[in-house]
Amino acid sequence: MTIQDYGYTGAISTDDGSIPARITAVFGNQFAFICEQGGGLARLKTKEYDSGEEEYPTTGDFVLLRYQTDGESLIIKTLSRRTSFQRLDPSSSGRSAQTVTANFDTVFLMQSLNQNFNLHRMERYLTLAWQSGARGRHTTTRRQLIFLPSGAMIIDTPGMKELGMWDVREGLEKSFADVEQFLGRCRFHDCLHTNEPGCAVQDAIASGALDEERWTQYCRLKNEARYSENKGDFLRQKQRRNKEIAKKARRLKKNGDIRR
Ligand SMILES: [Zn+2]
Repeated sequence: MTIQDYGYTGAISTDDGSIPARITAVFGNQFAFICEQGGGLARLKTKEYDSGEEEYPTTGDFVLLRYQTDGESLIIKTLSRRTSFQRLDPSSSGRSAQTVTANFDTVFLMQSLNQNFNLHRMERYLTLAWQSGARGRHTTTRRQLIFLPSGAMIIDTPGMKELGMWDVREGLEKSFADVEQFLGRCRFHDCLHTNEPGCAVQDAIASGALDEERWTQYCRLKNEARYSENKGDFLRQKQRRNKEIAKKARRLKKNGDIRR
């Protein structure tokens, strides 16, 4: 099987002898991958990843690695993602995004029809799925890339208990189009949609055109997202700064400005 069979479309050879590979599963700090030479396990090159210069790979990512026939290979770069599914990182006490999967076309959302069925959870999934840029419906939940005989690949992400909202402006727009259609139609442009006269949202709820519970859930997800968006901007800026510092340091070192 070739790396193209795994969906890779970029260049094959690189100047530094690294080759493209696709991450098929993540086990802590070890990454299972598949490449032209076959499968294997790899770890991350410390310098690039600890400096924040490279983004941590996740299942589905394409990476460049130095392949080892015996022992662990070394991942040196995460290639840019076509699509990604992000949620709020549940392990971070500070708030940051976690990329659950990358480079997919369609998202299937699945939920069993038993007592655990929860419409609000489905709304949450849908919002995140829309934001990911996939043509998607929703999901299941061990994150592993599986190759089917037809040539299609599935990344199964086994049940996620927490799906925090993360930068989901577009996702909300799509999964709550029925709600957002009433926004911007109120008499006052700064309407808070509580009890202002001429409020299109409250009118729609009163007339039954808009389900009050949908409105409540929309407000809940939006508030959650607003909080993480501010945090997201902060983290993106921090990452950019770290990258610049790392680049500068490399340049100085190259020019011999840093002496030991
Ligand atoms: Zn209003």
